[in-house]
Amino acid sequence: MKYDAQFSTGARLGTPRASGEEIRRGTLCIVSTPIGNLDDITLRAIKILSSVDLIAAEDTRTTKILLNHFHIQKPLVSYFSYNEARRTPELIDKLKDGCTIALVSDAGTPGISDPSYRVIRAALDEKLPVVAIPGPSAFLPALISSGLPMDRFIFEGFLPVKKGRKTVLEKLRSEERTIILYESPHRLPRTLHDLLETLGDRQISVSRELTKKFEETVRGSISSVILHFTTHTIRGEFVLVVAGAG
Ligand code: SAM
Repeated sequence: MKYDAQFSTGARLGTPRASGEEIRRGTLCIVSTPIGNLDDITLRAIKILSSVDLIAAEDTRTTKILLNHFHIQKPLVSYFSYNEARRTPELIDKLKDGCTIALVSDAGTPGISDPSYRVIRAALDEKLPVVAIPGPSAFLPALISSGLPMDRFIFEGFLPVKKGRKTVLEKLRSEERTIILYESPHRLPRTLHDLLETLGDRQISVSRELTKKFEETVRGSISSVILHFTTHTIRGEFVLVVAGAG
């Protein structure tokens, strides 16, 4: 893939400078990063992160660990849910000045249950170039290893914790496509019980710690998976893939 213009000199870029790929000045690059296994980073992500002028990160400490691992040194600025309203115009001004910016989240693909929508929308509204650098996201490996139909699916992300939870669950009852949910370990039991109560005892696949040392996927009826997690420690991050209605 070629971009419109090449970085003219390394003067604003620092080193190392990526070879081959050319990024137009003022581009916002949305860069996916590993969800646990650092080997999952793409060569292109490394090149882009090494080339941009600035990296906007959900958590600069987490991203610093990633960058150190790949020997990348770049200025970092935070961009997370509580400062995105304030940070967005600052980033847009920098893009307008010709700065190239990589946007990363703590893990996976920015925007997938992570902040990024606001700055992407603002960049597009300003007719600035936006490029996605594809890579890991937790929902896809969970879906493709679930054994459930994957020709059509919906991604619901995290269920609302309080307000709106019941409504969302009830809407999902008639959903025919495979349903993908994200969940934290401490909310997993409640979510499994709510799914059983609202959707009935359907097939489910629950993946935890994807790409990591203790990766595990438990498949079966919702009630059997609940039973499994009453006798096993609930640890790690979870993706739930639920069979659609019918
Ligand atoms: N942007 C990320 C992505 O592209 O998947 C998701 C970020 S969201 C804040 C974090 C949630 O993603 C976790 O609570 C969990 O549901 C899911 N997740 C992230 N990494 C995971 C992993 N290695 N194994 C299982 N689930 C994971």
